[in-house]
Amino acid sequence: MSALQVQDLKRHFGGVRALDGVSFELAAGECVALIGPNGAGKSTCFACLAGQQQPQSGQVTWAGHALLDLPPAARLQRGVARTFQVAQTFEALTVLQNLQLVRCAGQLSWWDRLDQRGPQAAQALLESMDLQALRHALVADLPYGAKKRLELAMALAGWPDMQDAPRLLLLDEPAAGLAPEERSVMMALVRQVADSGATVLYTEHNMDAVFGVADRVLVLMQGRLVADGSPEAVAQDPQVRELYLGR
Ligand code: ADP
Ligand code: MG
Repeated sequence: MSALQVQDLKRHFGGVRALDGVSFELAAGECVALIGPNGAGKSTCFACLAGQQQPQSGQVTWAGHALLDLPPAARLQRGVARTFQVAQTFEALTVLQNLQLVRCAGQLSWWDRLDQRGPQAAQALLESMDLQALRHALVADLPYGAKKRLELAMALAGWPDMQDAPRLLLLDEPAAGLAPEERSVMMALVRQVADSGATVLYTEHNMDAVFGVADRVLVLMQGRLVADGSPEAVAQDPQVRELYLGR
């Protein structure tokens, strides 16, 4: 059975059909890229899945729960975490404080309680994102690449602690604006999260970050899915070739 089922999602802004009947499924542990030109509806799709926006119609089921009636925090408690196209971090706080804030928002008790796992888990997360040396730095002072890694760390910090809890990670352009080496680092981290058992859906414009990383690719254009298949199959799609490969 699919972990995520999206059925006939529609989200209109006046006459603009940002999502015009989008349906797809993700298997548990799959790493899937959602690609498409600017304005295709990718960010709107994420907002509907994570709860920042409500679609006019459609259904979303994650790990057996109907999601659309739940506010974002309740979705996070069911394992649905996301990042934003424009990093949503708190500039006046430190890296560590940003992570603590996510824990508070999720009403989770991992960090500053007396339980022994707290500091270790925090340290492991900071280390895996290469943020350990920057943990007391103000976010306003971070290089852009570190800020993008912090956003990813914040999404992971918000997940429930239970080892076998279902985990869905939605990443809106995680590598946008990064230099090529930083982009490779980021995409390796994304792949690592998927390999650890989480289900991952991410948007990306850079084709190296799509074809080297994703198990499957969904192509969205003008609010409709026009292709769904392996990276190799989708790369042969005429619309995709025209859009991304210039031929
Ligand atoms: P993408 O992330 O693929 O670039 P978006 O989901 O941001 O696309 O946007 C899809 C379409 O919906 C675009 O035409 C965009 O202008 C429109 N749109 C998105 N958000 C809003 C909004 N809050 N109000 C009006 N139109 C919007
Ligand atoms: Mg977008």
